[in-house]
Amino acid sequence: MKDIGSLTLEELTAQFQNELGLPAFRAKQVYKWLADGAVDFSEMTNISKELRNNLSNIYYISVANIEKKLISVYDKTVKYLFSFSDGNMIESVVMNYHHGYTICLSTQVGCKMGCTFCATGQGGFVRNLTPSEMLAQIHRAQKDLGIRISNIVLMGMGEPLDNYDNVIRFLRLVSSEDNLNIGMRHISLSTCGLVDRIYDLEKENLQLTLSVSLHAPNDEIRSRTMPVNKRYPIDTLLSACRSYVNTTKRRISFEYAMISGVNDSDECARELAQRLKGMLCHVNLIPVNPVKNTGYKKSAQERQQAFIRILGKYGITATVRRTLGADINASCGQLRGAHNK
Ligand code: SAH
Ligand code: SF4
Repeated sequence: MKDIGSLTLEELTAQFQNELGLPAFRAKQVYKWLADGAVDFSEMTNISKELRNNLSNIYYISVANIEKKLISVYDKTVKYLFSFSDGNMIESVVMNYHHGYTICLSTQVGCKMGCTFCATGQGGFVRNLTPSEMLAQIHRAQKDLGIRISNIVLMGMGEPLDNYDNVIRFLRLVSSEDNLNIGMRHISLSTCGLVDRIYDLEKENLQLTLSVSLHAPNDEIRSRTMPVNKRYPIDTLLSACRSYVNTTKRRISFEYAMISGVNDSDECARELAQRLKGMLCHVNLIPVNPVKNTGYKKSAQERQQAFIRILGKYGITATVRRTLGADINASCGQLRGAHNK
């Protein structure tokens, strides 16, 4: 069976014409249904029953099923545990900011990178998600909440650049006018720093926002919390980031989860500032979300403010990320972790 939702309109049109002898407008009709979130060919009522039957023998439609749904009492943030047809589960979170609805999507079932502070990292890796499974998370949430999602962050479970081809295809699909038409400027991609893939992404020259999970000012601390740093040390990573900014002219966001007593000293702030000096960037401080068995605690508010002041002295802007959905463990990986126990 073929994955219809991972095709572009051009590809579907070519298959319809060459393999099924169908006119281009049929492909357009079917594609419209898919872009509107159809989960079954039987919904496609402007197409004959016979053709719908034929299509369902050749193609399948990826669907995200709601296994669990939590709504924050504080801010209405919604967190889903979705399952796919093979039973694998991932999480997505929908947040309501002033400028519209933002969805935090997963790109893999689990993750190979093993960051010590991350719930997803603790569970290991199962498989990559397909482009259609990434789209399905948006469709399911939109239908369930009766909303249009306008912004996407690839900050759920998984390392997007470790599933490079599928993620790039997803980005092209989701931003295309024939599909969900969510522009690249409304999309952020977060990576733990796979340097070779950052250079590949630079060549694509997309207008999305690149977020780099830095979380430490030097190799000693970073290698302790993020094993990927042993493969791509900080200087190698930051050279790739400088090159990326040069080509795309887009500001990079550095994510920095503040962990009490680990990476939040004044000395850490100064070291970080030295390293980032002169780069078109912004630092997002995130009080670390405590995950079971890590022993990590979030930094005190005075620490966060001291950090921001020191970075500011070196001309680097930093803000503390607003935490949404604190009561529903909205940072990804925690719900699936709890469900699997
Ligand atoms: N794999 C990618 C994207 C998914 S993780 C990446 O690592 O960037 C999304 C963000 O959440 C990353 O910045 C990650 O470092 C951060 N994160 C993971 N666990 C966290 C925790 N317990 N507290 C705060 N941030 C966390
Ligand atoms: Fe993977 Fe990102 Fe979690 Fe690290 S922080 S384990 S890269 S999902």
